[in-house]
Amino acid sequence: MNHYFKKHKIKPQGWMRQQLEIQAKGLSGNLDKFWPDIKDSAWIGGDREGWERVPYWLDGFIPLAWFLEDEDMKGRADKYINAIVDRQKEDGWICPGNDEDRKHYDVWAVFLIGKVFTVYWEFTGSEKVKESLYKAMKCLYQMMVEDKVSLFEWGKFRWFECLIPLHFLYDHYQEDWILELGKILREQGIKFTDYIECWKRPMNKWVLETHAVNLMMMLKYEALCSKFFGEPYENVAEKLWNILIEYNGTAVGTTTGDECLAGLKNNQGTELCAVVEQMYSFELLYHITKDSIWAERLEKIAFNALPATISDDMWTHQYVQQVNQIACIGFPGKSYFRTNGSEAHIFGLEPHFGCCTSNLHQGWPKLLWSAFMEDDGIECTMMLPSTYETKISDKNVKVTLVTEYPFRHSCKYIVETEEPVEFQFKVRIPAWSKQYKVDEEMKDNEGYWVLKQVWDGKQEFTITLFDEPHLVDRPSGLKVAEYGPLVFCLPIEAEYKMHEYERDGVERKFPYCDYELFPTSEWRFGYNSDTFSPCENEGDEIPFSSKQPRITLQTQMRPIEWEYEDGYDSVAAACPTGAEREGDLVTMALYPYGCAKLRMTEMPLTINKK
Ligand SMILES: [Zn+2]
Repeated sequence: MNHYFKKHKIKPQGWMRQQLEIQAKGLSGNLDKFWPDIKDSAWIGGDREGWERVPYWLDGFIPLAWFLEDEDMKGRADKYINAIVDRQKEDGWICPGNDEDRKHYDVWAVFLIGKVFTVYWEFTGSEKVKESLYKAMKCLYQMMVEDKVSLFEWGKFRWFECLIPLHFLYDHYQEDWILELGKILREQGIKFTDYIECWKRPMNKWVLETHAVNLMMMLKYEALCSKFFGEPYENVAEKLWNILIEYNGTAVGTTTGDECLAGLKNNQGTELCAVVEQMYSFELLYHITKDSIWAERLEKIAFNALPATISDDMWTHQYVQQVNQIACIGFPGKSYFRTNGSEAHIFGLEPHFGCCTSNLHQGWPKLLWSAFMEDDGIECTMMLPSTYETKISDKNVKVTLVTEYPFRHSCKYIVETEEPVEFQFKVRIPAWSKQYKVDEEMKDNEGYWVLKQVWDGKQEFTITLFDEPHLVDRPSGLKVAEYGPLVFCLPIEAEYKMHEYERDGVERKFPYCDYELFPTSEWRFGYNSDTFSPCENEGDEIPFSSKQPRITLQTQMRPIEWEYEDGYDSVAAACPTGAEREGDLVTMALYPYGCAKLRMTEMPLTINKK
């Protein structure tokens, strides 16, 4: 068995590097300096949260630090890892807390820190961390066998996450207890197929069974089991995903979940934790199953839902995003969301709850990590600007991918070898491009472009993809504009109102303050036609800039009647009152969904008055 993602051989370039640098200058690269639950965490001897928050943060901070080769950030990651390992108990127990409290400690955090140790090992090869992980899992095994620890709540619903560190350990130690622990976890864990019926109707009740983050994590359980236990893969994930999306899907490839599944309305929220966990699940699903549908779905979330819900400077984020989001203002009365508070959609340090504050960091770095894979030769799975260096038949090979994808549709590959070496080079071609060109040669899209040959010296080729902007059907007769992997929306101009304050010992202070976004432009429109003109712009230094998007779609729209959701004057009703052509035509520039902080995404195609 092999670990899914190999040691880092990839370096970000172009917009991907810009994005990671913004991330490092923002919340991700600074959280340990001021946020109490990281700065003073019980994991490192402090008195604050000693459960999921530090592991969540490290899970993204470590790859971010190493991809950017930032010595200061690497040093801070080392400090945390060393502090955790140094506090490990004699018997191997790795988490903070008193020995007598172990029975009540939710071991979800053991799975999570185990996953973080495998990430750290991939970048550093640290023997100390590998041994610490061995001891931690052996301790968990013994305590579970002796019934001193058992699964409940989060651990019960996320049991399969532990297969990631266990898989790593089995690769290195091949001891039977490792497989045995995997079996015990599966026996005590939830069987998700028992809960399918309750995913079909939204409830106004918070339950673990419909908790969107649990379900996004769940999507990879069968793939992990198939690798770990060596069982046949039967694609249960596809069935589960189709049910989730049929009853709760959004226009950007996520499900609603605020924070439990919330049905098909375009004004319900999707939690940021669910977005990054869904991305990670799809990255693993593609790497394990090689079914390109997961990579297709991954692109849609990564290039739309992820950037949309984090500010340009990556200092603030939402707890939940809405597809049609006309304002991000705290509700004065009852929250519109089913199970989230009234501030879950404002941009801030920890709106509603701090899980996303600690978990959002893995989004971009892990996406980059999954961009190339080696199986039968080299495969480029995600067209992200980067360089990939590896050895094939003991010879150095370097691939450089120069691209502005997803803002542009061409990718220049430069393959360099020290000496002649034969291998297969494969590029996954996104399904929306029915045909594509390799240099000047037109080809039909059969999923991949493959070239097996002796590579010698430096060779270049350019792959160009083709699409026309078009409308896609959504529930209630509404439409969404798409072009390539990007979803487009009508941006709404926003006035930002900053809030600096302190609550429960946590300070909000610029740049990690809260913002409410008030709409200052009209949002009641429908499409006049289904024709769009793409406009490529230079943009600014922010890849998914809310001020200067690198691509827009010009189209004509008409004002229509559209009410608010009953009882709320900052939430647009899910459907317009009518779609009849009334006012004058207006030429509008649609923005990529990931660029617009206030937006209308699902809108009707207007019709002539009867
Ligand atoms: Zn969260």
